[in-house]
Formats: sequence, C-alpha cells, structure tokens
Amino acid sequence: MSDNKRKRVIFAGIDGATFSIIDPMIAEGKLPNLAAMQNNGTMGPLLSTNPPNSSLAWTSFMTGVHPGKHGVFFFREQRHGSYQRPVVSLESVQAPTVFKLASAAGKKVVSITMPLTFPVEEVNGCMIGGLLTPDRASDFIYPPELRAELEEAIGDVPADNEPEILFHSANEAAAIKSMYHVIEQITRMGEYCIDKYDPDLFVLVFRQVDLTSHQAWCYQDPEWQKANPGKWESRQNMLADVYTAVDDAFGRLRDKSKTLDGQVVFGTCSDHGFGPITYRYYMNKWLLDNGYLVLKSSAQSMKRKLWLAKKWNGLLRRTGILRILTARGRKLGGGQEQALTDMIDWSKTRAYSSFSGGEDIVLINLKGREPEGIVNEGDEYEALREEIISKVTEMRALDGAKIIARAFKREDLWEGEQLHIAPDIQCITKETACNMSPNPLHSVVAEPAVEGRPAMHRPHGIYGWEGEGVVKKDHRKTGFQIADMAPTMMHLLGLEVDDHMDGKVMLDCFEEEYNQNNPVAIREGAVTLSPRSFEGNVGDDDEKLLETMRALGYME
Ligand SMILES: [Zn+2]
Repeated sequence: MSDNKRKRVIFAGIDGATFSIIDPMIAEGKLPNLAAMQNNGTMGPLLSTNPPNSSLAWTSFMTGVHPGKHGVFFFREQRHGSYQRPVVSLESVQAPTVFKLASAAGKKVVSITMPLTFPVEEVNGCMIGGLLTPDRASDFIYPPELRAELEEAIGDVPADNEPEILFHSANEAAAIKSMYHVIEQITRMGEYCIDKYDPDLFVLVFRQVDLTSHQAWCYQDPEWQKANPGKWESRQNMLADVYTAVDDAFGRLRDKSKTLDGQVVFGTCSDHGFGPITYRYYMNKWLLDNGYLVLKSSAQSMKRKLWLAKKWNGLLRRTGILRILTARGRKLGGGQEQALTDMIDWSKTRAYSSFSGGEDIVLINLKGREPEGIVNEGDEYEALREEIISKVTEMRALDGAKIIARAFKREDLWEGEQLHIAPDIQCITKETACNMSPNPLHSVVAEPAVEGRPAMHRPHGIYGWEGEGVVKKDHRKTGFQIADMAPTMMHLLGLEVDDHMDGKVMLDCFEEEYNQNNPVAIREGAVTLSPRSFEGNVGDDDEKLLETMRALGYME
C-alpha cells in the first residue's frame, strides 16, 4: 500500500568529491547524474571538520556533532597510559549515530560502506561496514545472515578497502579492477537493500573518488604534467573515469529513490575537497631540531633497524606475503612504529608528533598521562604549548615557504566531553602542505613535493539535495558544514532533532512553504554524552588497517 505521507531520505555520499573536478566535468556533459541533481535541486560547498580528514568528518556527518563531542580526531586514537595509538573504529565514536537515533524512533535504516561503521551496530534494518573494516572475513554485516542472502542475490560481497590493499600489495591494474568491482557490488547491495528493507533512511558512501584522488590526482594536473613528462600520459583519465563510474552508480540509486512512495528527499555530500600538495614536511624532524624531541644516543644505529623494518615490510608487501600473513592475523608492520618509539629518549623528550603521516599534530609527553611523561601538568604544560605554537608557525621549507598556517591549543579548536583525548596542539597547514613521514631522521624539515602522489584534502567538499520541498536550480548556497547533515536528515525523516547536536538543519535548501509546514522540532536532554574512558586492549586488526592507511598516502 502506498503511503504518501511517509518521509524518506535516500543518500549517496561521494568521499573526497570536489567542485574543482565536478564543475568542468559537468560542463563537458560527463557527469549526467550529478548535473541532474544540480538542475532539479540544490548543490553547494560543504565545510569539513577541522582538520578535514575522512575519519572525523564522516563521524561528524553521522552524529551531527564536532570532534570535541564525538571523540574522533584522526584515524588513530590517543590512549592515556600508552604510546601506542590504535586505529579508530565505531567504538571510538562517543555520540549516537543517526542510524541509532532513527532506529530508536522506529524508522527502517540501511547503512552501506559508511566510514567507521565497523564493528557494525545493531540497527532497525541493516548495516554493512565501511572504511576501517579490516577485510571481507570480518563480521562487517548486520544482520549476519544478510551476507549469504547478498551473495546469492548479487554475487561477490567485497569489503570496500580491497582496492587500497591491492594498490600496495599487488599492482595498479589489479587495484583499479577491484575498485570498479567494488563500485558495482556496493551499488547492487544498495539496490537490493532498498528493495528488501524499504528504508526510511538509506545511506551509502562511495569512497573510490577519494582513493583515486590520493593515487592519481597528479596525472590530470597540468602543473604536474609539465614537470613530469612521460609519467602521466597513460593515466591522465584515471580520476575522471572513476568520477564517471561513481556518477553512474549514484544515478542508479537516484533513479531507485524515485520509485519509492512517500515524500522522498535524495541527498549527497562529500567529507572534504581535494587539491594538490606542493610541500612535504616532517613534524618529528622539526621537534628534534628544536630540542623538544630527543633521540637515544644509539639512534643512528637504530636508524638501520627502522630502515630494515621499512624495507622488510616493503618486500613482504610487494610479494603479496604481507597480505597473506596479515589475513592470518599476524602483526608485522607495527615493527616500524615500534622502531620509532624505541629510538626516542622519552626521559628527555617534551613533545612528539604522529607515528604515521597525514596528521599535523604535536603531543606533549605529559607526566601521569604518557607512560614515560616528563612535562608537569599546569604551568609547565601551558608554557610549553605556547612556546611550540609560536615557533611552529615559523617553520619554513627549503625555498622559504611557510608551512604551518595556524596552530591551536586543543581547547581553542574544539569543545566537548572528549577534549581530554584530543591532540594537545593541532596545526592547520598551508593548504598545500602535508606531514608525510614520522621519521625524525629525515634530512630536512620541509621541502617542495616533487615525487610521489601530491594530493590531499581541502576544507570544502560538496552537498546536494533534491526532491520533496527542496529548492530548485538554486545552488551554491553557502554557510553549511558537515555536522549539519545529521540534524537535516533527522528533520527530513519527520523526527525531532536532539539538542546535543552541533549542526543545524539546512533550512535554506528547502522552499519557504515546506519550512512553514515542517517546523524544526528540538528534543531536549534525551542524549547525554560522557568523557571516554579506556578499557580493554588494542585490537588485533590494526595491521590490516595500517595497510589501508598506507594506500591512502597517510603512511610510508
Ligand atoms: Zn574522505
């Protein structure tokens, strides 16, 4: 029986999608489905989290709160009492997801390949884990019996990080093949689950644009092409081709949403934009040069150990042996991070940075929190943070370029119950610079990026809405941020918006009449957040997850 009053949200996200690629492609008629959404609804820039990284940004998307409340600040956690930093998971998320809230309100929910939804949670419908699901052997499907049903109906059911693993462990051709296969299979999962569950809230995230942007941005960049003749010709369409494939899959879900009864709103967004990197810098090297990080006198000989650990991992990876061993649950590459921590003289070190790349932070070696902390809480901690903040913003590359645009004490950037697990200092780099390696023995502090894959996130991604009540052809409205997506989805489902959410309903995207007939209702005091405490051990899946991070360019 059709129900014209039933309110639904069907959402297909595109990780890393950016207007600098979309606009010219739409102009050339190459993204017909995104173009159709733009013509029939509204699209515009969406501000990511600070910093603009998938882990915290998608968490803000699904919780409606900023990192200070949800507790995810990067792909790695900061645990009190340990220098080990486990990879984040849904267990790191300290605020309820929109899937949980909508389920509790009796709505049917489908979530497919949303980053950080592993381990999957029980919902009124189904959840298929996304980025940071270790591999296809993991229990990443709720309810578990859905796996066999999917295999029967659509064939292969891959984990969505399989292309990443292949980029590093096999070859580019195998990875690209796997990527197109994943796009096809998760689209089939989406179509199947819409039929099976008849959802009120449907969320699916395509992550392949992000992966390809990390891997292949440079090949289509005219500047990079000029500097690297002979390296890009066969790959210059790699990124555009993936955008086209995702647009096609996106279109299939958009078409499907039109077959549903009720008041349907179709939505999209990305978690951040993308752009080239022109500088690489090395925060641990800067901390070493400035006397905040001190190495053991044996560090030079340990450098060999680090080098060996890296070479050994590289060899295992290239030969595919690492994949086999990690699939058997062996912990290997931790050796590299362990070699790094072993090099540091913690009894003299006041500050250190990430043991992986891609993270622009300074951590204080605080007494009582770090296992071998030496900096006292209070005045000493405060004075040290102020000193580092004033100095680090003066960091220069070899050619004199400034690297760090701004540096913040954590309480100046975030607020909320999880502030105690945020990095002590968060830097915001100049848009085109990236902390590429944790190695304190790198030869320089910062240098122009010439080799490698110079592309990283930008603060502005995209949003799009289309359907019941949505303004038409009135795009590029500004002023929205990613935490606005969850309260907007709750409101569109006809539910009250919880008052702990930082985001606001995106009312400007809807017609005045619609807003008058559908006033935002706020629910007060139903959700209580509390500071995270740490119990239990670091997961065994970390090595598989580190491989994914390497493929995305966060680690060497
Ligand atoms: Zn992302």
